[in-house]
Amino acid sequence: MVKKIKLKDDFSPRPALSETHWRGRPPIVAVLGHIDHGKTTLLDYIRKSHVAEKEHGGITQHIGSYQVEVKTPEGPKKITFIDTPGHEAFAKMRSRGAKVADIAVLIVAGNEGVMPQTKESIKFINEAKIPMVVAINKVDLPGVVVEKIKKQLSDAGIRVEGYGGDVVTVPVSAKTGKGVSQLLEMIILVSEMEELTADPKGKFEGVVIESKMNHQRGPTATILVKNGTLKIGDEVTCEEAFGRIKAMFDENDRQVLVAPPGKPVEVLGFKEVVAVGSKVLGKMLSKPLARPDGKPAGKPALPTGRQALPPERELISPKAPQDVTFKIILKTDVKGSQEAISENLPKEIGIVKAQTGGINESDILLAKATGAAIIGFNVKVSPSLYKLANEEKVKIKTYEIIYKLLEEIDEAVKALTSVPAEEVFGRGEIIAEFIVKEERVAGVKIISGKICRGDKIKILRGEKEVGRGRIKSIHHLKEEIPMAEMGTECGSSFSPKLDFEEKDVIISYKI
Ligand code: GDP
Repeated sequence: MVKKIKLKDDFSPRPALSETHWRGRPPIVAVLGHIDHGKTTLLDYIRKSHVAEKEHGGITQHIGSYQVEVKTPEGPKKITFIDTPGHEAFAKMRSRGAKVADIAVLIVAGNEGVMPQTKESIKFINEAKIPMVVAINKVDLPGVVVEKIKKQLSDAGIRVEGYGGDVVTVPVSAKTGKGVSQLLEMIILVSEMEELTADPKGKFEGVVIESKMNHQRGPTATILVKNGTLKIGDEVTCEEAFGRIKAMFDENDRQVLVAPPGKPVEVLGFKEVVAVGSKVLGKMLSKPLARPDGKPAGKPALPTGRQALPPERELISPKAPQDVTFKIILKTDVKGSQEAISENLPKEIGIVKAQTGGINESDILLAKATGAAIIGFNVKVSPSLYKLANEEKVKIKTYEIIYKLLEEIDEAVKALTSVPAEEVFGRGEIIAEFIVKEERVAGVKIISGKICRGDKIKILRGEKEVGRGRIKSIHHLKEEIPMAEMGTECGSSFSPKLDFEEKDVIISYKI
């Protein structure tokens, strides 16, 4: 049952707001949830395209955004969806997604229920302090009990409607489309209660949700307009980066001249690849952007692709110095994946250089000079480059799925850094020291297990290891014995000669 909420009169005048405020800005919605719970399928159904089939490995790799129109009794209303990626590797981008968004849709597969990433998503949504609507997905599958999922959600801390709270849950099937229109209605209703306002004539403010180097267009950024209107020719700043908007494209790659609040657009005009999640602020230019030939702009001039591309910003990691175990050069298709990978690499990895764009000759030379391996994500490598890398003995490995990349690097680091397990045979405490035939002999009390002649031993002083060697000889009174067991006291010499003190502990072990 869809909860009936009385819609407010969207366009009634409100004294508190200036008349330039456009009430009812389209809500910006992020869909979050555990991997494989149907996020891509749902967004895909809503958009009526087929993103999921085109994706490598079936997980979403990039943040995208699009707007849909929902029919309501008051007429069509827009919703802006952020296509946030679902895997753990995107935790940061996802949390940014939730912060950029006004409303979150938490998707939970009815056949699996609340999973680790569901809980992580709930945390992100709570941190972002935004309302949520829960989509209980895959209700077309047999055996799905919606009430059971609601109970799990309530146990996970969500104040679910019917369990003492007001968070709406909508049973859906992203596959068949069942319940999706009710879900969209709910999003509209929740957004009405949020009273989202924006002033299209106000100061421009936007957020970067994707950013990349396009080899034809130069640096591009997908911006969600939060306030004001972005126009061709506007000057904008994004952290330290500066840009003048040369062209804008909507989600269907159609050129647009203005982007009002709620609108996602890909913009050209930044001089560098800007950071995902950063704010874009701007001021309007008083005169229109001049064309390169000096004439005033009529239709915006599109970059031809022949222009010199601005240099890419390189990220030289502070982890790069010698004290790391492994060095890599990371080349990725977009800034978002670069960030997601860099932030999730094991601490033993030092990044010599992280950059968007394909692997080239200078990467191979830098890798050779620094002893780094080259890791590529969603980038192509030509056979001639592989040949060069082979000649220079540089390793190149490319991936198309972030979690595969991280898994393999983790495994490689573990394999190369793992210390072989030691099996302890016995322990003894040094209780005295003698000199026998000019050789230092330790008086040892065996406190556990046994020690044998020839055993490998290490000597500990408190927590600190002070030496390793072997048991050369064991004496009990004057007699040489092959081993000493717990409770006995013996004299022991070591090979090589080790520097020991009273109260040191001897551990006999095997690798
Ligand atoms: P994501 O990782 O959350 O983006 O999940 P996907 O959208 O890739 O879905 C994971 C799998 O679940 C795919 O095989 C989908 O076809 C399947 N799936 C998604 N939604 C539904 C649904 O409503 N019903 C059924 N039966 N399968 C679904």
